[in-house]
Amino acid sequence: MKAYTESELPKTRYKNCLTRNGYLSGPRRGEVVENPLGGPEPRVLWLRGDQSSPPRGNVVVGVIGVLVAVCVVLGIVAISLSQCSSEGVIDSPRVCLSDQCVRTAASLLAAMDQNVDPCVDFFQFACGTWNKMHLIPEDRSSISVFEVLSDQLQVILKGVLEEPYNDEDSQATKKAKLFYRTCMDIKQIRKVGDKPLRDALDRFGGWPVVVGANWTPPSTSLEHLLGMLRGLYNEVVIIEQWVGPDDKNSSANIVQLDQMNLGLPSRDYYLKPSSEADYLAAYHKYMTEVAILLGADPATAAMELMEVIQFEKKLANASLPQADRHDTSSIYRKMTIKHLKSLVPQIDWLEYLNTFLSSPVEETETVVAYAMPYFVQMGKIISESNIKVIYNYVLWRLVMTVSPHMIDDYQAKHTEFRRILQGIQSERNRWSQCVDWTNKKMGMAVGALYIKRNFNQNSKETALEMIHTIREAFNELLEENHWMDNETRAVAKEKANAMNERIGYPELLTNPEELNKEYVMLNITEDQFLENVFNIFHYDALHNLQQLGQPVNKDKWSTEPAIVNAFYNPNKNDIVFPAGILQPLFYSQHFPKSLNYGGIGVVIGHEITHGFDDKGRQFDKDGNMMQWWNNATIREFRDRAQCFIDQYNRYKLEQVDQFVNGRMTQGENIADNGGLKQSYRAYKKWVTQNGEEPRLPGINLTHDQLFFLNYAQIWCGTMRPEDALTKIRSAVHSPGPIRVIGPLSNSKDFSRAYSCPLGSPMNPTSKCSVW
Ligand SMILES: [Zn+2]
Repeated sequence: MKAYTESELPKTRYKNCLTRNGYLSGPRRGEVVENPLGGPEPRVLWLRGDQSSPPRGNVVVGVIGVLVAVCVVLGIVAISLSQCSSEGVIDSPRVCLSDQCVRTAASLLAAMDQNVDPCVDFFQFACGTWNKMHLIPEDRSSISVFEVLSDQLQVILKGVLEEPYNDEDSQATKKAKLFYRTCMDIKQIRKVGDKPLRDALDRFGGWPVVVGANWTPPSTSLEHLLGMLRGLYNEVVIIEQWVGPDDKNSSANIVQLDQMNLGLPSRDYYLKPSSEADYLAAYHKYMTEVAILLGADPATAAMELMEVIQFEKKLANASLPQADRHDTSSIYRKMTIKHLKSLVPQIDWLEYLNTFLSSPVEETETVVAYAMPYFVQMGKIISESNIKVIYNYVLWRLVMTVSPHMIDDYQAKHTEFRRILQGIQSERNRWSQCVDWTNKKMGMAVGALYIKRNFNQNSKETALEMIHTIREAFNELLEENHWMDNETRAVAKEKANAMNERIGYPELLTNPEELNKEYVMLNITEDQFLENVFNIFHYDALHNLQQLGQPVNKDKWSTEPAIVNAFYNPNKNDIVFPAGILQPLFYSQHFPKSLNYGGIGVVIGHEITHGFDDKGRQFDKDGNMMQWWNNATIREFRDRAQCFIDQYNRYKLEQVDQFVNGRMTQGENIADNGGLKQSYRAYKKWVTQNGEEPRLPGINLTHDQLFFLNYAQIWCGTMRPEDALTKIRSAVHSPGPIRVIGPLSNSKDFSRAYSCPLGSPMNPTSKCSVW
């Protein structure tokens, strides 16, 4: 679970901006088909009412007789009949009738429920039919446009990973293909069985619950165990640890420490009384059954692992809720190891760190701790707990990380656990899991295979242009706001202009030698899948830890390209748009600009705004955390952010009868609202400069309206109650429907476009706005 949730992201400090990666395979939305390689230009007919404006299409049909003929054809195919008057003369405005426009219009229409008043519930208006037509597959906890896009990407990745080695392969891409192949080799996996996991546990004296009454604590310390797990398997238990740019000196890498991610998605699962019965019981059952598979005595296992739950509950209680950790500057503490030791004396921090750091550190080494209150509590809990319970818990977390990669009985137990936790009914296809793992664990190598035939350079140029226009819109809005002082405003503008744009994929991917270097520390065997999984854990650890002592390479970016997502990194002031997101519904070279601005445009604005949300605003243009705002302006910002917190706190997911956590989601909500506003403004500017676009056929909406429609349709989808609960409790993003309703009901542009009366549900009188 850990590897697939957002909770892991703090390690890289990248904001995962759209959603958790989706689970795979299922019905897809096939109406809009993009030919990624371009291919022949589509036929375009511009039907114009206003003959005086200059033509911009490939084929211009300006003769009225031809128009009449076209109208007859239109009548026959029953498309855009409303555009033709009874005399067969075209009413304004122009309509685009290319096959691409027809497909696009059909796709938009197919998702909508036009029986719903857009001013009452725009999510239902935009997505009603889509949601009705897309059942949640048995192996998923939700279905959404996002997941469907990820599915399409998966099919492409399956194709490239299954291709035999060829001359174009580098060592790196061969490793990715080999890893995928070993993952698919069920016969061999079955032959090897769970031995690699048993061997790993034996390395630490065995999992006490399995060893039984004969277990004795190893002669080495707990710090040694935690350190070995971190260094060998990238498993961070009790203490979260990574090496990364210092928030206050973004060009230097430093050891960072934080509270750990729990076994369940958030602390609420341990502490809310309603969770006891179902989720904790399922968790306990899962760990007990896995222990039995590894040889534990059933009665002992149930008892000992109940103590483990109690122990983890104490740690959950000691941890801070995510909503209270938003203010990075208030939780950041830089200190020497010696000082840390004086505050949390129960842990030998030096021994812990020196177990896995490649070059030993001294007590004078400085580290950054983001969770001092947790560490203090944790130290006490450790000193008061039975060592066997601690070992049982710590090694359980290794087992929990590894077991989803196992088959047969282990897989069955995992599926049963996910059934309770996420509501899924069956396990995914093996190929789909294997593609997913390969892409997540060797994303750069898989990306190199993907981009060869699936990325159009033109889209990179278009995205760059759009970034520039949207940044311009951001800067204009900055000029217009009344709550910032001029000095802060000038620095904000400087920061926006200094943002690095990362689009598609890093150049490294086209350089086999450089790419091979990335994976030189990774060994992939021919026939040992689980061994390969362990090797990847080890590689991840080395890859991160070796950065200590190295300067931060600000030019380097390493976001895997084959994902449908986008990012902002405050330490580098980078906005990142991987190749996987530059596809419909976000972007198509055949889309009207209104759709591209409503799609990828809003995403771009969203990422830019992250540089100025509650967290991002604490970092300067060079990625250093420092106060560049004056106090009065900070107060103004907080008042406006509070408006969003209150607004989103009032949104309720009826499905689970729970309210959204406005505080936990504020950064994303601020980014959604800002992104929408900036992108709309940029689109209007484009129209001013280039003229109105021809309308889409058969859909009675203006481009202003289409802009918002496409924005909303990106969030079409439904979720199981279990998933809704997980999102409410642990996600930093608001659930899909709220991401539509929230920003649109704050948008005057939206209300104008759809003529929503003031006071209607989508046009409330009080609105929130920061950027
Ligand atoms: Zn975001």
